[in-house]
Amino acid sequence: MQGLMMQQPLLVASLLMHAERHHGAQEIVSRRIEGDMHRYQYRDLAQRARRMANALAALGIEPGERVGTLAWNGYRHMELYFAVSGSGSVLHTLNPRLHVDQLAYIIEHAEDRVVFFDLTFLPLIESVAPRVKSPKVFVAMTDRARMPQAHGLSSMLVCYEDLIDLHSDAFDWPLMDENSASSLCYTSGTTGNPKGVLYSHRSTLLHTYAAALPDSLNCSARDVILPVVPMFHVNAWGLPYIACMVGAKLVFPGPALDGKSLYELIETEQVTLSAGVPTVWQGLLSHVAEQEGAFSSMRRTVIGGAACPTAMTVRFQERYQVDVLHAWGMTELSPVGTVCSFKTSPSALSTTERYALQAKQGRSVFGIDMKIVGPDGEELPWDGIAAGDLLVRGQWVSRQYFGSDGAPPLRDGWFPTGDVARIDPDGFMQITDRSKDVIKSAANGSVRPTSRTSRACIRTSRVRCASPRGIRSGTNGRCCWS
Ligand code: AMP
Repeated sequence: MQGLMMQQPLLVASLLMHAERHHGAQEIVSRRIEGDMHRYQYRDLAQRARRMANALAALGIEPGERVGTLAWNGYRHMELYFAVSGSGSVLHTLNPRLHVDQLAYIIEHAEDRVVFFDLTFLPLIESVAPRVKSPKVFVAMTDRARMPQAHGLSSMLVCYEDLIDLHSDAFDWPLMDENSASSLCYTSGTTGNPKGVLYSHRSTLLHTYAAALPDSLNCSARDVILPVVPMFHVNAWGLPYIACMVGAKLVFPGPALDGKSLYELIETEQVTLSAGVPTVWQGLLSHVAEQEGAFSSMRRTVIGGAACPTAMTVRFQERYQVDVLHAWGMTELSPVGTVCSFKTSPSALSTTERYALQAKQGRSVFGIDMKIVGPDGEELPWDGIAAGDLLVRGQWVSRQYFGSDGAPPLRDGWFPTGDVARIDPDGFMQITDRSKDVIKSAANGSVRPTSRTSRACIRTSRVRCASPRGIRSGTNGRCCWS
């Protein structure tokens, strides 16, 4: 017997419609490339996203076609998150820290029809443009007064604010299959060419619900959220969607990710929750220490992308009373997989127990199941001792890479993460190593075998890649986006 409930597809545009209707006056604050602050409300975001949706249609973008963005965290990028996905095309966020060859490869592979870019990245666009055939239009995310003279761009160069001004805000977000693609993010992987992870509306919505939960990132309408993690990497860990779902104030840092700029923003905008990788927080902590400052509003920070050093957790919590939420995820997981939130009151734990627990990457959020297996594929016990390959499955885990004609990566329906981990009896997972035996040693894609010792080196040190912008780091040698 079928249930008798309404069938409303899980669509990205519904997040924006909710935010406009129920949290229309909530603020979105962005530090712009020019250094000044831009402020508006969710209702303005929604109105401009509808204008942009009309503009995309006028540019001839069809449902399912890819639209690239090369942009910092800011309100125009946020508008594109909804205008592109909401109108049925696919938002392809490009990582500007990749080598120009990799960027060109990704744009061609995704067949981006249009690429939107922040002015910072004009030189990069000028380098990439002659190498790619697919985008016919490049859109500078600026106003008419700041439009650049682009040399070497044979494709059409369009001004973002012109598109907004020229088009009406009368647009009905289309109903579509919730399994249709909403966004695309390439992961540089450990070997070979970057691989595209293609999210669906459904996977994005389910991830949003789960990531907002109290034992996940714990977001609410009372929060002021600062996503330092870039919008070009796994949708800024889903925070732009979460903020719309819960009606939180959003604060975007733009390109200014140094400790001083972040601290000013956190204090001025009274940020309560921030999210980023350890290297970014190192800069912030050094600055606050130099200033002998304190955090007057920030109560939580999500740290992931690489293991959070215990010294950082201690510093945040004991010196500044900011709780650290250690999280683990991957591009292929949208990205949240585990979050280290306590099962009991932290006061029930000794200081040593508490920090030992917080060094772990945490427990599964509902929607993600995980297991560790030995070399024979047999599941290993959750005893906190046995370590094996970490496999996951769930509603927001990738089952195949975009445009891949190779075999799907799944093993009996489970996604092999490439991480090695142990899991304790309470379900807290801790990464101990990588299972892959090769790393990409240079931007030309060459690979070399690594011993356990050199892998350990990669985990703990930052390794320069050949890209002038790229720094390879993290546990897996993937290009770092910190
Ligand atoms: P990416 O898909 O580029 O975000 O990289 C995902 C990989 O980053 C994971 O497979 C891990 O190797 C690593 N990673 C993410 N979060 C953590 C964490 N909290 N601790 C250690 N490694 C992490």
